[in-house]
Amino acid sequence: MVYETGNRTIDDAVERVLAGERLDRRDGLALTAQPVEELAAGADYVRSQLGDDTVDACSIVNAKAGNCAEDCGFCAQSVHFDTGIETYGFLDPEEILEAARRAERDGAQRFGIVVAEKGVSKAQRPGEWQEVLRAIRLVRDETDVEVDASLGILTREEAEILAEEGINHYNHNIETSPNFFPEIVETHSFEDRVATLELAKDVGMDLCAGVILGMGESPTDRVDAAIALQDVGVSSLPVNILNPVAGTALGDELGDSADITTPEIIKTIAVYRLLHPDARVRLTGGREVNLDQDEQHLPFEAGADGILTGDYLTTGGQSPGDDIEVMEKAGMEPNMDANEFDKAAVKARAGDESAEPEEIETAAGTATSNAELDD
Ligand code: SF4
Repeated sequence: MVYETGNRTIDDAVERVLAGERLDRRDGLALTAQPVEELAAGADYVRSQLGDDTVDACSIVNAKAGNCAEDCGFCAQSVHFDTGIETYGFLDPEEILEAARRAERDGAQRFGIVVAEKGVSKAQRPGEWQEVLRAIRLVRDETDVEVDASLGILTREEAEILAEEGINHYNHNIETSPNFFPEIVETHSFEDRVATLELAKDVGMDLCAGVILGMGESPTDRVDAAIALQDVGVSSLPVNILNPVAGTALGDELGDSADITTPEIIKTIAVYRLLHPDARVRLTGGREVNLDQDEQHLPFEAGADGILTGDYLTTGGQSPGDDIEVMEKAGMEPNMDANEFDKAAVKARAGDESAEPEEIETAAGTATSNAELDD
């Protein structure tokens, strides 16, 4: 043992993870019961030993907004809720390319094309499917960012086509534990989501799948969600924190606060790092509204090594330059493996509205309400 927190449960877990052992549900529950500072220290040590002190940034475009027939209780884009968000059909692929170029300029290593839909259906909307492929090809061929997609539930044929087109990660969040999922969504099942993840993996895409914290789930649910993600095998694990939206089921139930405290957020990140030592544990939607500015670096001192930068699906995020400041405060640097960008220029643009290219304003940031990376 080269490092000790003095807490036997944590030190034992750290040692076993570094020896290549996969921790299980029992370990996750035991770790969740430990003090947050020691847990964060153990997780940070594992991250430092297995990672490279970089934070991987991704960015997304909401390529088709609103009018989704599903009833996910957190989502401003569902037709079941009256949230007043801007809705639009699939964007012009050239507009998506412009959003990708801005993400590339701002330091993203990967760029996700996201639609608000149970699934983009090649059979039911063949024209739209072709536009999706055109957008993927444009971003793939014209930028250095890796192209990811979040297009909902897939058929095998659709998954095979996306893999052939070079989709790097397929994003499809499981949201929460199998047990708690039916409390949040009634129109499709947890198993539907896992089936698409398994299909995407089977055809060769890496998986980006994660959770939303603060929806009323228990600490046990948080561990169970991480174990479900172990079973499917994710290489990117986005951790959203609910940004409750008035008009959604959870917004009306919880008011304007997610049902989770800052120590519980830090603890969950640390446990996820220990349960997923090889994945990028990625801070995503809701972090700015649920963590104070001077707390934002804490997840990166507790095992996190990924971030969703720029705007979210229906809300604006803080500037990518501010995100780099957060990483640096935690002693980390932005990853530049796929896209070597001008870090000084990104930081200089922080808070500078005039730096935003006008022509891509509609791509990712003009609507008003939710903050989830989803589907
Ligand atoms: S989370 Fe996805 S599937 Fe659920 S309502 Fe929102 S857009 Fe639709």
